Amino acid sequence: MRRFRPYLHYLKMVRGPLTTAIFCGLLYGVSSGAGLPALVKYIFPAIFSHKADGLSLGTVALIASCIPLVFLVRAISGYLNSYYIQLSGVRILEALRLDYFRKLQVLPLSFLQRKASGDLLSRGMADTQQLQFTLTLLANDGVKQPMTLAGAIGFLVWQAFTTDGVLLVLVCLVIVPLSVLPVRYVGRKVLRRAHQLQAHLGSVTSIFSENLAATREVRAFGLEQREADRFAAGTRSLVTAQMKIAKYAQALTPAIEVLSAVGIAATLVFAFGTGVTLETFIAVVTALYMSYEPVKKIGALNNEIKRGTAALDRLEAVLHEPVTITDPAQPAEVGRLRGDIAFAGVTFAYDSAPVLWDVTVAIPAGTVCALVGPSGAGKTTFANLVPRFYEVGAGAVTIDGLDVRAMRLADLRRNIALVSQDPVLFNDTVYNNLLLGWPAAAHGVVMAAAIDAHADEFIRGLAHGYDTVVGERGVLLSGGQKQRIALARAFLRNAPLLILDEATSALDSESEAAIQDALRKLVVGKTVIIIAHRFSTIRDASLILVFDRGEIIARGNHASLYADNALYKSLYDRQHAGAA
Ligand code: ADP
Repeated sequence: MRRFRPYLHYLKMVRGPLTTAIFCGLLYGVSSGAGLPALVKYIFPAIFSHKADGLSLGTVALIASCIPLVFLVRAISGYLNSYYIQLSGVRILEALRLDYFRKLQVLPLSFLQRKASGDLLSRGMADTQQLQFTLTLLANDGVKQPMTLAGAIGFLVWQAFTTDGVLLVLVCLVIVPLSVLPVRYVGRKVLRRAHQLQAHLGSVTSIFSENLAATREVRAFGLEQREADRFAAGTRSLVTAQMKIAKYAQALTPAIEVLSAVGIAATLVFAFGTGVTLETFIAVVTALYMSYEPVKKIGALNNEIKRGTAALDRLEAVLHEPVTITDPAQPAEVGRLRGDIAFAGVTFAYDSAPVLWDVTVAIPAGTVCALVGPSGAGKTTFANLVPRFYEVGAGAVTIDGLDVRAMRLADLRRNIALVSQDPVLFNDTVYNNLLLGWPAAAHGVVMAAAIDAHADEFIRGLAHGYDTVVGERGVLLSGGQKQRIALARAFLRNAPLLILDEATSALDSESEAAIQDALRKLVVGKTVIIIAHRFSTIRDASLILVFDRGEIIARGNHASLYADNALYKSLYDRQHAGAA
């Protein structure tokens, strides 16, 4: 219970509906726990006892109408209780998911890359759902069931004082706490298995999302059977985990029912001994039954709390993860940057082994700087440190002499346009995808950017022009078309710094020429870092940095490097041969 305290603010948010729900729950509890036994005790005898011989039909009908009345109160309050609990529940779920999703937006990329995206997805959908279920059940049955129990026990105690079956009632009261034993036992068993269940759910979702992200590969490599087997194995362990919980959770109700039958039998024996009347006996048994019911429900609630705890652990693993890349406490005021980039003694590691070693370099504003080197040398990592996607281990990255850690993230990133190798488009219209570059852009500006990026021609050729929806991740467009949209975004953004990851895959020659032309226009007056793969790009760069195993081993322009640096010469000759 204590675990959930920090999350009770989610309940506060739905105070209105929840209060209504709980009030109706109370009414439901009293009308069930005390109302039903009272009917048995007073209404039936009032009609059937010999004293009732003189009653008119009207009076009997009046007395009998108490029965539907009690049930009506119980029905309406039960209904309103369920409705408002559901309402509170979905609101809580919404807030929980939103908090989780927001957290994912600000967590460091290094954290997200360590986790399987399917597992993160499962935490956001399945674990929030479980937690929502637990919280609302806690809010609901946590009040309603104890109230029903109190109602029933209250009735029993009242009977004890008003009739002569005191002993009988005492016996009943002793048996009620006994049934708490199986509840505790089962709860302990469920907790551990709930952890396993949610983890299995996460891994099944991972297999699923991985598969959907690799539909082409699966067919190309004939992995259909392997994938189906992997998924089958995942769902099989999920089923096993589900059944392990069911094994214990489902045993609870029968166990409590057997206990209550023993209780009723014992009551019967004592009733015989003390000579109570039939009506009292039946009323007491009804009250007894009414008090087992909540014990059963409280037991189920206990199981749900355990399952909720497991879900909470998984959510907290993300919610409590520190956001390491944040705005500084006293950010420097940053407008439009000029674009002098400098790395001073920068060392960086993703895990333990450094990927960049003591890198020092200055890239003056207006430079087109090409990064070359073998794959895995650290070029991408170097470029990713400029927008502060990762935090340097030692040293500093500065722009215009200002440490990137001294600026607000939004200020820094507003000054940077990023064009990646495989640009991601959202499943929206072409126009809205362009707008991402600068959401406030006027229509004319968007058009101009598309024209500059040589994207306008092909966009007009699409089925609905700028209003064509591009499909998830832009599947309906070719690689070259996606690149041109990404370039148009960069034009729109018009940032002083441009980071470009050149596509390694060959594009059709028309796209290639269009992109080269667009790039030449785009780089004017900007500081550009290009992870370069094409010799033409490399040759045109004013500064070339040669990376090898995390270090810059040479720098200069094409002519000087080609003459002096063996690695550069071999890389360039290979590029040239490949392109020729
Ligand atoms: P390049 O762009 O020159 O091909 P990268 O900067 O992508 O090289 O990678 C440099 C090294 O860092 C490689 O050894 C790569 O395996 C490692 N690396 C890259 N990204 C990550 C990551 N997210 N987590 C762990 N290691 C990474």
